[in-house]
Amino acid sequence: MHPAVEELIGIMSGLLPSINLPYHLHEPTLDKTDEDAVVSCIREKYVSSVGSWVNKFESELAHIFQARHAVCVFNGTVALHALLHTLGIGRDDEVLCPALTFVGTANAISHSGATPHFVDCNAETLGVDADALRLYLNSIAIYRNGKLINKNTQRRIAALVVVHVLGHAADVDALQTVTDEYGLLLIEDAAEALGTLYKGKPVGARGKAGMVSFNGNKVITTGSGGALLTNDDHLAQHFRYVTSTAKLTHPWGFYHTEVGFNYRMPSLNAALGLSQLKKLPYLLEKKRNLAAIYAQAFNHSDYWGFIAEPSFSTSNYWLNAIKLKTPMREIVESGLEQLSQQQFYCRPLWTAMHHLPMYIHCPRGPLPITESLEQQVINLPSSPNLLNVIIKANEHYACH
Ligand SMILES: *Cc1c(COP(=O)(O)O)cnc(C)c1O
Repeated sequence: MHPAVEELIGIMSGLLPSINLPYHLHEPTLDKTDEDAVVSCIREKYVSSVGSWVNKFESELAHIFQARHAVCVFNGTVALHALLHTLGIGRDDEVLCPALTFVGTANAISHSGATPHFVDCNAETLGVDADALRLYLNSIAIYRNGKLINKNTQRRIAALVVVHVLGHAADVDALQTVTDEYGLLLIEDAAEALGTLYKGKPVGARGKAGMVSFNGNKVITTGSGGALLTNDDHLAQHFRYVTSTAKLTHPWGFYHTEVGFNYRMPSLNAALGLSQLKKLPYLLEKKRNLAAIYAQAFNHSDYWGFIAEPSFSTSNYWLNAIKLKTPMREIVESGLEQLSQQQFYCRPLWTAMHHLPMYIHCPRGPLPITESLEQQVINLPSSPNLLNVIIKANEHYACH
């Protein structure tokens, strides 16, 4: 076994007691209050989209994200898809996004009819690198009839989707400066970033709009779910209209004015979301404390560095991650293999988008940092309840 792998196994098994194996990457925190919330929704018989649950969930989300509007849909991917559609982005457009992201980001761009155009990330923040982006746009973008055009493909470049990777804020201000310079819309994929602050304010609705996900493995879950976040009244209104079949309000008639989507979040999911949100401060605290324990455990490692929050980010530490100091795919793979044999179900970072068959031919800038991180990062078990497991184990050892 490579000494880097040996050290990794040593640290993980020292930290997480073997009596509680296996350890998964991120489990939902569900309790009796969540059960009660779903049951009461069923008793009210408004399990689908009628009733007050969704409205209430939306207004609490808007408050948490400090956004004028939150509009719920049934997952994060369709939130991004419908957002791009509502903004008039589609065929013949390109949308910039990081190559280092979950496939949902690029899929949503494709679903809108646009072409994803991949850019590099910053080694510290894992988010889109503003300086690299500016340099790249300088080399490929020209203006024609007031539009920003990719001179290699002749398509319009319409927007930049930034991703707050693993719950660490991307440098939104620096990115906003670049998108303003080039007249691009700034959109935030905050799927992983509920509770993350950038310079003290929530991420998600800082640019034109953003979205969040409530999938089962995210910070809170509605089973499946997502929401648009925006301060733009007209955009929120039109998004709501389009995601609920574009039907004119009428007591009995069916009249639809455009091709709409049936993307609305059911009440059942919103009921679960409301009870989950009550736990958010508790979950965030547990997650940050768990991150501090991991950070300390890897502090003296010769081979691995803990990925800590950037200076401007108060991260939710959705997934804790470590980075092999010298990129070597074989070591990361052998580490994952050994961890998995010991029932620590860790994960690598995603395969970069330009390495996936459907996105191989998409336009892209230079991606040195993305390709290096792809061979360096391991995500560690990050469920909030692990903090209690570790504390209990330490008390146990202290007693003996
Ligand atoms: C989870 C996730 C999504 C998609 O959200 P779903 O609710 O699973 O559709 C999109 N982007 C990123 C970065 C994600 O982590």
